[in-house]
Amino acid sequence: MPTPVSPGTPVSQSVAWMERGRAVIPGGVNSPVRAFGAVGGDPRFITSARGALLTDADGTEYVDLVGSWGPMILGHTHPEVLEAVTAAAARGFSFGTPNPHEVELAEEIVRRIEPVEAVRLVNSGTEATMSALRLARGFTGREKVVKFAGNYHGHVDALLAQAGSGVVTFALPDSAGVPASSAGQTLVLPYNDVTALEQAFAEHGPEVAAVIVEAAAGNMGVVPPTPEFEQAMRRLTREHGALLVSDEVMTGFRASPTGWLGLSQMGEAPDLFTFGKVVGGGFPVAAFGGRADVMARLAPAGPVYQAGTLSGNPVAATAGLTTLRLCTDEVYAAVDHAREVLTAAVTEAFTREGIPHRIGRAGTMFSVFFTDDEVTDFSSAQQQDTALHAAFFHAMLRHGVHLPPSAFEAWFASAAHTDDVLDRIVTAVDASAREVRA
Ligand SMILES: *Cc1c(COP(=O)(O)O)cnc(C)c1O
Repeated sequence: MPTPVSPGTPVSQSVAWMERGRAVIPGGVNSPVRAFGAVGGDPRFITSARGALLTDADGTEYVDLVGSWGPMILGHTHPEVLEAVTAAAARGFSFGTPNPHEVELAEEIVRRIEPVEAVRLVNSGTEATMSALRLARGFTGREKVVKFAGNYHGHVDALLAQAGSGVVTFALPDSAGVPASSAGQTLVLPYNDVTALEQAFAEHGPEVAAVIVEAAAGNMGVVPPTPEFEQAMRRLTREHGALLVSDEVMTGFRASPTGWLGLSQMGEAPDLFTFGKVVGGGFPVAAFGGRADVMARLAPAGPVYQAGTLSGNPVAATAGLTTLRLCTDEVYAAVDHAREVLTAAVTEAFTREGIPHRIGRAGTMFSVFFTDDEVTDFSSAQQQDTALHAAFFHAMLRHGVHLPPSAFEAWFASAAHTDDVLDRIVTAVDASAREVRA
C-alpha cells in the first residue's frame, strides 16, 4: 500500500530538520522507531508539549498518543512537576555524591511495590534489565536466561534475540554486533506457552539463572499473560532455583497504581522487578529492585558490580518522585476512562467500516491490532495488517492525532486526555476509519 504524505499538513520545517539530522545522526534519529520506518512519511519534529498536546516545528498541533512511549502519564509539562524540577535544578544539576532525592524516590518505589524491599536507580530501562540479569547470574552462579519472543527488554546484547516461532531454540542474535556467545546463553520461548516453558526447564533447569518477562507484554502490542502462564513461570523458577525477573518498565505505575503486579494472578510475587518510563516522569530514570537478600549482592554491599555517574541524579529523581506522588487513584481513573472511550470508538468505527481489529488490554494500557484473530503471542500479533495500520496512522495524523508510528505499540493516554481531547480523537478515529476503507 503506498504511504500517504499527509497532504495539506505543512511539514517543511520537520523535513528540513530531518535533513540536518541525517547528516550527523545515523538515520536522523536517536532511537529507530522515531524515523517512521514502519509507516513511511515524515517524522514530526516536536518543539513543545503541554498536557495532551504536541506542537511541531511547523507550528501544527497534534493530540499526543505516544506519551514519550509511556512516561507522560500526567500529561506533558505538568505544572507541579515543572516547578519541582526547576527548583531542584536551581540547587545543582549533579553532585556525584549521595543526595536526599534519590533516597526519597527509592522509598516511594519500595512503599508502593510491596515485594520490592530494596531498589537501585539507573538511567534507562536497558540498564535496569541488563543489571538485573547480571545480578541474577551473580546470585545463582548460573549463566542461561530465558526470555520470550516479542518481549522487548531494551537493547541488552543477551536480550536482542528472538529466534523462530514455537520451538525451544538457543537464540541467534537479532542485531548485527551481538556476539553469538552472548545471545547463545539466551533461550527464547513463545510467550504464554506453558508447555514450552516446562520443556525448557526439563532440559536446562540447572543452568537457568533467570526467566525475564514483560509483566504484561506491551512491545508487540498489548498482550497480557494468562494466569496459567504466570503461575508456571513462578512454579518452575522456584523449583529449579532460578530467579523470576518481572520487567515492569512499561507497565510499572501505569497499568495500575502498582503496575501489572496489582493485576497479576501469579499468586506469589516475582523475585526482581525493573522499572522505567513513568518512574522518571520524562527524565532518564529507571530502577531495578526486589528481594533484599538478592539486592544485597550488589556492590558495594556485595560482589556484583553496578554503577553510574549520573545514577540518582537529583533533578531526574525529583521529576520521578514528584510524578509518582501525583499519580493518585484519580489519575489512574482518568487514564482508564481514556482507554474505555478510545477503545469503544475504535471498535465502533472499525466494525462499521469492516476494518479487522482486536483490542489488547492490560489494566489501563491498550493497543489496537489490525486483525480479527485472537492475539496471544508474537506470532499471532504478527498476523496483523501493518499496511492498514500505516494508512490509518497517516489518516489520524492528517486529522491532528499523533499515534505511535508502529502497529506493535501501545497507545499511551494520560490524565490530561480530558473529555474535550478525547472528543477530538474520537472524531479523528471516525473520519480515519472511513478514509482507510474508502
Ligand atoms: C522501554 C522498555 C525497555 C527499555 O527501556 P529504555 O529506557 O528504552 O532503555 C525495557 N523493557 C520494557 C518492557 C520496555 O517497555
